[in-house]
Amino acid sequence: MAITGIKTKFHPDAVLAETLSQWIGCARVIYNAKCDEDKYLRTYARKCLPVSTWPKPDQTYSQFKTELTSFLSECPSQILRNAATIWFQAYQSFFKGIGGRPARKSRVKGNYIWLTQELFRINWVNAVCHLSIGTKANPVGTLRIKWNKSRIPAQSPKSVWIRKTNAGWSLAFSYDDGLLHQDVSTSEHLAYLKTLDSQALDELITPVDRGVAKPLHTHNAIYALDADSKRKFAWRDKLVKRYQRKAARQVKGSNQRKRTLQRVAKLREKDKEVRTNFWHQTTRALANNSKVIVLEDLKLKNMTKRAKPKICEITGNWLKNGARAKSGLNKALLGVGLYQFEQFLSYKMAAANKPLLKVSPHHTSQECAHCGHIHPSNRISQSDFKCQSCGHADNADHNAALVIRKRAINLIINSGTELAGTHKNVLKLRASVDKSANSCKTLKVKALGAASGLSKKKAA
Ligand SMILES: [Zn+2]
Repeated sequence: MAITGIKTKFHPDAVLAETLSQWIGCARVIYNAKCDEDKYLRTYARKCLPVSTWPKPDQTYSQFKTELTSFLSECPSQILRNAATIWFQAYQSFFKGIGGRPARKSRVKGNYIWLTQELFRINWVNAVCHLSIGTKANPVGTLRIKWNKSRIPAQSPKSVWIRKTNAGWSLAFSYDDGLLHQDVSTSEHLAYLKTLDSQALDELITPVDRGVAKPLHTHNAIYALDADSKRKFAWRDKLVKRYQRKAARQVKGSNQRKRTLQRVAKLREKDKEVRTNFWHQTTRALANNSKVIVLEDLKLKNMTKRAKPKICEITGNWLKNGARAKSGLNKALLGVGLYQFEQFLSYKMAAANKPLLKVSPHHTSQECAHCGHIHPSNRISQSDFKCQSCGHADNADHNAALVIRKRAINLIINSGTELAGTHKNVLKLRASVDKSANSCKTLKVKALGAASGLSKKKAA
């Protein structure tokens, strides 16, 4: 069984939008009041009470309904209760060590409500979903949502989340897709892969090289946005900068400035949609068309750090450290959404019971796929690769993909032998033991997805 989710945009009319906004505000008041109350009680307990008698967090909220907060009485009690429940659940997660202690939420982060079953009903009228909001006694309005009925679960969801951002309204819920996923562990996968020879592995494995200029490069395909989308990205970027300059000149808190910021949010939202759509389509194609996928184990968080400051050892002055270029590269790296790709691919591969493996990313762009020679001067430009040792010439990303596959095959075949060590040791070993083996630094094979297609084959 796997839990999956659906998120969709909607456009409420003015009356419904105002009601929902008020509900969201009330829910946030309760959540923040619970945070404040907890902080007060903890301070009090620390000063006055013995340790074992400290009050435990609870879900009560009626104490916040006073003469000063008469607006809370106009909001359905379920909304307020749900806000208290969210706070309580967050606290339980904190006790389990999953997250931090619940903290006050701002308008940006806390602009949502949780609607449970009493507060909404779903009816299908001519293949259009009508979502009525409000209790039976007090209906508030109806949303018409375009959903593909075949993809929506037959059973109505138990609860939905409504969120309001500068870019608009969205509605989300999760459900069990009812599909049985086999839980085949990575070790079982690798055990099977190990029984194959390098020829068979060569055919099975799809290596994926990730980059900025061309987001994805496999051994036989390139996945990148088309020129038109790229042009539109650049155009939106230009508009965002213009609106940000405009917002900087406008009076803080004014309606005009708010409108400018909404425009920025909408442009950003569009960027996000295009990117997300691209990754969904790409990962779907990859997951459907390949049996084993191997990625580089990129540490994106380390890769997108700021440039370190440089100091001249003699004079003690600050030197140029290329911070501007590094920031530009970081922005480009983050703008591609390589981590999102990894997330999408991992769940799609897991659902298909196919393995997703990772190999060490060190010097994949400098190593020759033909002879294994590693040198920075092998990479003569962003797109071209020419080995300084054997003269092998190729597209740089294609060469990197082949290197990744080679590493994966070596790791799978040799994973029984412990070869982890420094790069130099590995190079020495390669020279002495086997010319084609162990071209990477560590024997790190991580797997995200679980296996199936392969195991079935094994049984046959
Ligand atoms: Zn070479």
